[in-house]
Amino acid sequence: MSQALRSPSTHRFPNIDPATGQVLGTYVEATPSEVDVAVEAAQKAYLSWRKVPAPKRGEILLKAMELLKDRKEALARTETREMGKVLKEARGDVQEAIDTAFYYAGEGRRLFGQTTPSELSEKFCLSIRSPIGVCALITPWNFPIAIPSWKIFPALLCGNTVILKPSSDAPESAIQFVRILQEAGVPEGAVNLVLGRGSTVGAALTQHPQVRLVSFTGSSQVGASIGAGAAQHFKKCSLEMGGKNAQIVMEDADLDLALEGALWGAFGTTGQRCTATSRVIVHREVYQHFTERLVERAQKIRIGNGLQESTEMGPLVNEAQLHQVQAYVEIGKNQDGARLLCGGKRYTEGACADGFFYAPTLFGEARPQMRIAQEEIFGPVVCLIPVRSFEEALETLNHTEYGLSGSIYTRDVRRVLRAIQEIETGITYVNAPTIGAEVHLPFGGVKHTGNGHREAGTAALDIFSEWKAVYIDYSGRLQKAQIDS
Ligand code: NAD
Repeated sequence: MSQALRSPSTHRFPNIDPATGQVLGTYVEATPSEVDVAVEAAQKAYLSWRKVPAPKRGEILLKAMELLKDRKEALARTETREMGKVLKEARGDVQEAIDTAFYYAGEGRRLFGQTTPSELSEKFCLSIRSPIGVCALITPWNFPIAIPSWKIFPALLCGNTVILKPSSDAPESAIQFVRILQEAGVPEGAVNLVLGRGSTVGAALTQHPQVRLVSFTGSSQVGASIGAGAAQHFKKCSLEMGGKNAQIVMEDADLDLALEGALWGAFGTTGQRCTATSRVIVHREVYQHFTERLVERAQKIRIGNGLQESTEMGPLVNEAQLHQVQAYVEIGKNQDGARLLCGGKRYTEGACADGFFYAPTLFGEARPQMRIAQEEIFGPVVCLIPVRSFEEALETLNHTEYGLSGSIYTRDVRRVLRAIQEIETGITYVNAPTIGAEVHLPFGGVKHTGNGHREAGTAALDIFSEWKAVYIDYSGRLQKAQIDS
């Protein structure tokens, strides 16, 4: 089932613990010919898997859910070790995969189509979902089990077979997840795993002629090139990409609640969530007070190894990410001219000296057009942008090329309803932070964040299946639609 687990390739890459800088292990990188083998295995398995009744496919997912539950703690620890998020959040990541398995297992007995009257007599019309074929699934490191689960479970349930190419920053989580699927009874070849760099292994996979669908989650830059390649070969392609999410705090908001939301949204997963709050847009009337309290609380966040239960914020995922955050902080200070309120430096206290830690960083008096307020930083760096009205707040929130998540804190019901309509994002929160999606609602974004698809819930079924319209004529004569008799 998992081609990478048996790979004869000799090129290996290291898996580094971002909290200590230590090498946890080395992993074999797949060669392009091994990608071919994986695709062939998936193509062969597709011919029989597509014929397994959907309720039976759902039962295998239910078994996978049980195994995920049994191994939740071990999986969470693996995640924390290889990508750094704190244990509580890593457990949440595994829980998301458990919930996703449960949801799509039930979908095996629904997978609803439609029946509808025909315009002709003695004719029966319906629509059914059909599988697509071999799917390439390309995933990032920040939700090492949840994001693969968002793709694998609906893809399998719809009757497709898959090849997963996870990020090289979280290979072990993917290996353990794929083993669970194997134990749950997913047949040989229906789920395959290839490890290695995106530019080689990922590119060979997405460009393979037998791959009919590419589902990608990662940066907008990589997504754009994958989308262009898929378009040339008419592959179905779903892209979930970057964000520059904002939380609005109006002058009438519950400021305590807004403060908790901003802290969690900005510094949860060390700011490395696609839905992380990286801009806080605050009404001028409460700006000074809110900012002072946010700075005070941000400075108290307990930074450390995510394996320790008391840690509130772990390290950045790798050295490259650390350099990216450092570079953006320099841009904020020097090029943009924003006011650094706290943080702005690597965190090296005690046991953190060898890891990729960065202090929670807040920039004040930021303006919407600054680079730090426009570009995805993917770290614990937040811009505070003062505004003078509700209209200006909405305009500022929408002033970005991204459109994943947005949030507003206010007690005014008119503002709530206008915000729901006017915020240009795929996900909008009211009196809640920009993070916290649930698995049965559509997940994804507008503008440069996505290409029109949504993951999770029934929306993901539209990615992983094709609609087929069926007309059954039992009249015994030739009947012509739209032609006057
Ligand atoms: P990335 O784009 O660098 O890599 C994502 C995946 O794509 C990795 O597996 C990588 O190996 C692979 N890849 C890279 N180049 C490729 C190529 N040419 N062909 C095929 N595959 C290739 O992203 P990352 O650093 O792993 O993750 C962070 C990014 O992911 C952020 O931009 C974040 O916003 C985004 N993200 C988005 C969502 C969402 O649902 N919208 C969720 C999580 C993360």
